[in-house]
Amino acid sequence: MQFNYRREFNIRRKVLIVDDEIMNRNFLGDLIGKDFDVLYAENGVQALEVINAKASTLSLVLLDLEMPVMSGFDLLEVVHKDDNLKHLPVIALTSDKKSEVKSLQLGAVDVIQKPYDLPELITARIHRTIELAEDTMLLSYNERDSLTGLYAKGFFLQYVAQHDLYNVGDPMDAVVININRFHLVNELYGRAYGRYVLKTIADWISYEVGKYDGLACRCDPDTFYLYIPHCPDYEIFMEKFTKYFCENTGNQRINIRVGVDCNVDRNMDVEQRYERASLACNRMRHSYQNSVTIYNNDIHEKEVFRERLIMEMDSAMLKGQFKVFYQPKYAIAEKNLKICGAEALVRWVHPDLGIINPTVFVPLFEENGLIQKLDRFVWAETAVQIRKWRDKYGKVIPVSVNVSRVDITCMDLVEELQGIIKANSLDTSTMVLEITESAYTDNSDQMIETVSTLRKVGFRVEMDDFGSGYSSLNMLASLPIDALKLDMEFVKKINNSEKDLQMVKLVIDIARFLKIPVIAEGVELENQYQALKDIGCDVVQGFYLSRPIPPEIFEKLIENEEQSNG
Ligand code: C2E
Ligand code: MG
Ligand code: MG
Repeated sequence: MQFNYRREFNIRRKVLIVDDEIMNRNFLGDLIGKDFDVLYAENGVQALEVINAKASTLSLVLLDLEMPVMSGFDLLEVVHKDDNLKHLPVIALTSDKKSEVKSLQLGAVDVIQKPYDLPELITARIHRTIELAEDTMLLSYNERDSLTGLYAKGFFLQYVAQHDLYNVGDPMDAVVININRFHLVNELYGRAYGRYVLKTIADWISYEVGKYDGLACRCDPDTFYLYIPHCPDYEIFMEKFTKYFCENTGNQRINIRVGVDCNVDRNMDVEQRYERASLACNRMRHSYQNSVTIYNNDIHEKEVFRERLIMEMDSAMLKGQFKVFYQPKYAIAEKNLKICGAEALVRWVHPDLGIINPTVFVPLFEENGLIQKLDRFVWAETAVQIRKWRDKYGKVIPVSVNVSRVDITCMDLVEELQGIIKANSLDTSTMVLEITESAYTDNSDQMIETVSTLRKVGFRVEMDDFGSGYSSLNMLASLPIDALKLDMEFVKKINNSEKDLQMVKLVIDIARFLKIPVIAEGVELENQYQALKDIGCDVVQGFYLSRPIPPEIFEKLIENEEQSNG
């Protein structure tokens, strides 16, 4: 059964009467005035103005054909040719048989004969025409999403616009709900379970939205739009949702993020309101928790900033604004500290904004693929640097580069890396590849395959940020990796409690079990360094020993070390 918004909420339709004769206008107006809101026009030009201004709320036009300035025929032609107006039903008013035929040919849906006789017949025809037009309109949309029973997007957006017209004062919120990494739910638990998750969320939404006379749709496979009266506390909203979701699915690993445009501006397009809510929602896309973000000006400005960085990336590359810094890695197992390598970390030296750190632009470039270009630049620079140091100091200082999850999807990654190494007459073992742990969990099959090939051709691969993702011991044991880089959060907490220290020991035990070394990064303090040394960590990297530095300063460190070793 189709749902007709105007019918359901008993909304008075608007009918436009167009006639140059005042007597005719008044007769019809009096006749239908108790059932409809009536608007009037004296000729085609006036009528067109009204139609253009009120197209979305107008239900019918009653149109005289013979009029000065612009005739009913001309108006019919204009309306029929306009994609936005052609659905508007027009009933022609005429006494002439020939005109009757012509008007129907031009797109009128019906004709009422002049002079007007049986009033009941006229009103019945008007009601019927409006009903039919509304039904056909609804049928042209796929009204409901077949899986969840919520509205489909096109339909929903129309209802929101109509809702606003008839509920002028109520403050409303535009809400976007998205399931984070939904593709993983399908991959890990199967499509049937994925559908069950979607249905569970939709059931909760239907219930909540129903309580407040709101509206909701599923607009993408894993995204829902809600239009609800302003909710003062979205934390409570989220708590209620989380409780329902966990009770019904028993699953606590699926994360939902919610973005809200609160108290929407009615002058703004409906779609624009949902763009704002989506922006807010997307801010938390890297989170592993349920989260709510309310759109505000800050988010807008950040978005403008992000756009600016994306726009400027290409020219910044050409102008040489991206610089590679190197942070030394120290082996600490021996008595004396010794540089055993470095990590290449990119910096954007921006002429107006100063030095921008990669935490600002790397995630951004990962979203649109720009990261591939940047990474290739960093890898090439690094290879040149390894070669320079080998020539200058007669030894290889292995430098690790970061390989983004996006790079892994690139078909010729292995060949490209090999090409860079070959161009500098290096060995593949001199450039180490760091891949963040969550990249393994996001796309494990392709990852394992690519990493295995990389290792086969001689590259060493380190798992970066270990402990921030979700690898299981089973998974770790089967992964092809050469070192674990402990996530910085562990190091930060190492001296907080015995339990935190035990956690780090546990990681070191895992590494021993896998027969690979552990690298601790983010070591800022003497006592962190000491604790790591005491529990048998192999390599450390951190501000305590050195910040990431330009290559010429890195050379000083090498030279100092060489001098002190005699
Ligand atoms: P990461 O690969 O885990 O790199 C370590 C980050 O920790 C670096 O941040 C480094 O400057 C910072 N760090 C090192 N020691 C300390 C310390 O003692 N305390 C604190 N608080 N931080 C420390 P940076 O350079 O801002 O890079 C951030 C992230 O951006 C990197 O994390 C990496 O994921 C990414 N990244 C950096 N350069 C590149 C690149 O060329 N390509 C790609 N794809 N990603 C990169
Ligand atoms: Mg790294
Ligand atoms: Mg790291």
